[in-house]
Amino acid sequence: MKIKHIDHVGIAVKSIEQAGKFYTEIMGLKIQDIERVAEQKVDVAFLPITDSEIELLESTEPDGPVAKYINSKGEGVQHLAFRVDNIEEALKELKEKGVRLIDQSPRKGAGGAMIAFIHPKETNGVLVEICQRD
Ligand code: ZN
Repeated sequence: MKIKHIDHVGIAVKSIEQAGKFYTEIMGLKIQDIERVAEQKVDVAFLPITDSEIELLESTEPDGPVAKYINSKGEGVQHLAFRVDNIEEALKELKEKGVRLIDQSPRKGAGGAMIAFIHPKETNGVLVEICQRD
């Protein structure tokens, strides 16, 4: 597969408003947009840095995946996303190599990307996302 660059780092936070202050007021980044991803019960704030971005993830429901993550591990880096040029091919290659996947086929993520997660047991505990943006 062809990895282009780190697309984003997803950070689980209790409050985008509160957590965003560090990135905007101290680090000088800008929140470009906040998007609700209803299927994942999450609000996603995008803070671009050239070709990459920080994504702040705030759960919209107490039983959402990000809320569960914070309950078990606390706030912090939740996943790392690599941009690939062709997600279908990348998934096919991962399957051929016997890599366990959370998503067997691409699904729609925030920001119009197609995304898929690799099982963290394959990656020494890091939740790795691959994504494609056209
Ligand atoms: Zn992501």
